[in-house]
Amino acid sequence: MANGGPVIHGYPHLETVRSAITALYKRLSYDTVHTFGTSIAPADVAFCDQDDLHMGAQRVAHELVRHYHLPDARMIVSFREMEHAASVELAAGPEYFIELNDRFRTHRRDIGAALAHEIMHVYLHRLDLSFPGTRDNEILTDVAATYLGAGWLLLDAYREDAASSQKLGYLTPEEFGYVLAKRSLAFGEAPETWFTSPQAYTAYTKGLAQARLDEQQPPLTAAGWAGRRRYAKDRRYAQDHGARGPAPAGPYVFSADGSRGRDGLRVAFPCPTCHQRIRVPVRGRVRARCGLCRTVLECDT
Ligand SMILES: [Zn+2]
Ligand SMILES: [Zn+2]
Repeated sequence: MANGGPVIHGYPHLETVRSAITALYKRLSYDTVHTFGTSIAPADVAFCDQDDLHMGAQRVAHELVRHYHLPDARMIVSFREMEHAASVELAAGPEYFIELNDRFRTHRRDIGAALAHEIMHVYLHRLDLSFPGTRDNEILTDVAATYLGAGWLLLDAYREDAASSQKLGYLTPEEFGYVLAKRSLAFGEAPETWFTSPQAYTAYTKGLAQARLDEQQPPLTAAGWAGRRRYAKDRRYAQDHGARGPAPAGPYVFSADGSRGRDGLRVAFPCPTCHQRIRVPVRGRVRARCGLCRTVLECDT
């Protein structure tokens, strides 16, 4: 886990973040993802500066092991001077060695956040789920931690004041907010009251607005007027040209079954929940169900 540097904002990793959500559903299945229906509670990972450092770190690690359904894994947490915020040794188990930067000795309330990320590395290692390249793999780790109910701690560790800033993990604060909001929408959770950091709360509200935009893209019926108008224009072009020619600027793509003429037109678009591609025939009102995350999609194609 990286440490320090200026805090980057916005959504520079959005494509990888979305691929990570799809990969998680594909590898775990809908049923397993939904065994993570309840996020880890603030009280479970509370750690104040009066608590014993090592016993407290072990206790929080144990809570995360339990939350991630890793019953036989044992985390051995130690502290040392290091460049990074934290690291974990990915061995065969059942014991895993996690090192935390010495600065957490005096920033104990953020130990849960660091462990949420490092123990997710163990979870993904055991699943044999990874993305190629360190950057993308770290993004996958943050997304998985957040989508499975522990990564809100990483967002809450983001704090900024006039003199200093702190952020853990590889996602921007808004991207953490986005993944957390997608989880909240899929699981019916309301994490607003969990934050101790006002900057984290703000990033969550921004991420929530971005996540809601995913639900308002054509051909979904919830799309706004401008989107629907653009969609109708792109559809007319596809009908007239048999889906040849330039791809539309929206998040959807038309394709034609050549043997069926105008009747064979189909539209593909990303599922607003898991970003798996959905394909439906172009014939007005269509109700589809995402095969991966089971979201029911009301479309006006
Ligand atoms: Zn990492
Ligand atoms: Zn889906």
